[in-house]
Amino acid sequence: MAYEYDEQNIFARILRGEIPNNTVLETEHTLAFRDTTPQAPDHVLVIPKGPYVNFDHFSDAASPEEIVDFIRAVGEVCRLLGVKPGEGGEGYRIISNSGKNGVQEVPHLHVHIVGGRWLGRILTKTP
Ligand code: AMP
Repeated sequence: MAYEYDEQNIFARILRGEIPNNTVLETEHTLAFRDTTPQAPDHVLVIPKGPYVNFDHFSDAASPEEIVDFIRAVGEVCRLLGVKPGEGGEGYRIISNSGKNGVQEVPHLHVHIVGGRWLGRILTKTP
């Protein structure tokens, strides 16, 4: 089944400039901005500018240029946040929620980059 992209989702509206965002990085194919409800001192969302619902959709349908740009942007945001372990940072976690079980709230691909505090183990058994 093909993905249907909702043009009215909040990140599409951010990309159209209809609502503001706190930009950390913008490249040809990618935008990174601060999450409005941060879960840690550093909490940035990285999104492709193209209409992709989630990571597997992006993997299937995006061009090589978009994919390289996106992945490089993720690394650059880590550098800008100062969280890269190889450069003296304390580390970070990347999360990309998808669909019902992944508890995805906004249906436009985004990865969360979270850092600035100890994050605990990746998953608990709750609820
Ligand atoms: P997810 O549950 O992975 O879909 O996460 C969606 C994220 O988007 C949540 O962490 C929200 O706090 C965040 N969010 C929702 N609206 C905005 C917005 N206008 N600007 C920045 N972050 C937002």
